[in-house]
Amino acid sequence: MTRFIFITGGVTSSLGKGLTSAVLGALLQARGFTVRLRKLDPYLNVDPGTMSPYQHGEVYVTDDGAETDLDLGHYERFTGVPTRRSDNVTTGQIYSKVIARERRGDYLGATIQVIPHVTDAIKEFIRADLAGEDFVVCEIGGTVGDIEGLPYLEAIRQLGNELGPARSIFVHLTLVPYLAAAGELKTKPTQHSVKELQSVGIQPDILVCRSERPIPAEAQRKIALFCNVRPSAVIQGLDVDTIYAVPRAYHEEGLDDEVCRHFGLTGGAPDLARWDRITERIRKPDGEVTIGVIGKYTALLDSYKSLAEAMTHGGIANNVRVKVNWLDSEIFEGEGAIQRLEDVHGILVPGGFGERGAEGKIAAARFARERRVPYFGICFGMQMAVIETARNLADLPAAGSTEFGPCQDPIVGLLTEWTLGNRIERRNVDGEKGGTMRLGAYPCMIEEGSRIHGVYGKTEISERHRHRYEVNINYREVLERVGVHFSGLSPDGVLPEIVEIEDHPWFIGVQFHPELKSKPFEPHPLFTSFIEAAVAQSRLM
Ligand code: GLN
Repeated sequence: MTRFIFITGGVTSSLGKGLTSAVLGALLQARGFTVRLRKLDPYLNVDPGTMSPYQHGEVYVTDDGAETDLDLGHYERFTGVPTRRSDNVTTGQIYSKVIARERRGDYLGATIQVIPHVTDAIKEFIRADLAGEDFVVCEIGGTVGDIEGLPYLEAIRQLGNELGPARSIFVHLTLVPYLAAAGELKTKPTQHSVKELQSVGIQPDILVCRSERPIPAEAQRKIALFCNVRPSAVIQGLDVDTIYAVPRAYHEEGLDDEVCRHFGLTGGAPDLARWDRITERIRKPDGEVTIGVIGKYTALLDSYKSLAEAMTHGGIANNVRVKVNWLDSEIFEGEGAIQRLEDVHGILVPGGFGERGAEGKIAAARFARERRVPYFGICFGMQMAVIETARNLADLPAAGSTEFGPCQDPIVGLLTEWTLGNRIERRNVDGEKGGTMRLGAYPCMIEEGSRIHGVYGKTEISERHRHRYEVNINYREVLERVGVHFSGLSPDGVLPEIVEIEDHPWFIGVQFHPELKSKPFEPHPLFTSFIEAAVAQSRLM
């Protein structure tokens, strides 16, 4: 029997609803249940793929090629359950579906309305593509009271009725702010937020109250009384030093016990030993390395969520703390700025789009190559490194990427055709921008004996992609002659997936996004190896 846990949020955004959902999933797993996590996003875009990282943060890509909300990254990292296209939906997708049905005549002349047609489509999404999991944790994006969110609240209200309390539960996240002037924690915003939820017919069963300070028992009782929940169902969510300590923290506050009690499930306490081990390692590392990340969206770290986590995982694997210097690549286009890289133990250029700041990334790659500092180029970071070596090693000064306009030596070029299994995918220059990149998991063949072979320990891998341009295979020979080795290729040998510089302590560029698959218990081998190289570098300095 599949039970549905609906997670909503009130008072403000950024309360950590995604993390709470992921953690609840992990806690239920630790009690022996199977879980699936889903996110419903009320905005009108079809997916976040066309949104600026400043608007939306990172775009998380699933194996089956969906561009999704970054919360799906939390879900995967905390539960290890691979997410799919069917785990994230937006209003744009819901309406596209309803309108397509209307055009086909599926509604047999009915007037199409938010209730029931849109709400039906939402309910259909929530219940589709399940495999008998014990729990589906279903997070509603946005904040209660948002106009866009109303159809979703109505849909989960209806579902709650249809399923009954034995198969559904409502968890609401709120904020209990501390007012310094009053010297008090305030419960009123929580009361209002719950009222708002009640006004659309939803009575939350559990309240998770985020707070910077411990909420006194008295205030918890007050919240319970005014919000019509059991006192034990008021769970305090205090800030902790690492997100991997949250499962233990929420368990101690009784979150998973409350959920199980609601469903009449007994059974032992969850086994949280592995979470404790991870937290211990993060809190007591054996040393520290500094990685310079040269990016474009460094003012909003949510843009690099999975990357930051993957570096932490690499640190866990090597028992060191990874300190990250987030540096805007544009500063490296000025004189002398490159000196800012003198103290770092590794340089990472992550994914990116567009010409702004590209020359700064090329300068950083050059610094890493010439100064023999470990270099990790991801997607755009690989493309820029290859352009750098083409210009400065292979004597192709006009090397560039057609992403920035036509150029004499298109070392990186637009990909218009490629194979996916036994299908051929085609694109053209003027095509639509949404959902048309090379997306999702693709296999890559690794050359035996290469450095990357040592990293993965196997010759065939699968990694997730999200890019429109590719390193041009026609330049392979010229580049290999100067020591830039193409050590990973698509199975048909046409698309360069991995390049490495042989005569360098650690210089690897990958066309895919390994950070998307790294987990605290299973750090990605590329991050483990990169951080290991940074540790070695720190010993030289
Ligand atoms: N802009 C580059 C491309 O589209 C790289 C994309 C990325 O780094 N994700 O190919």
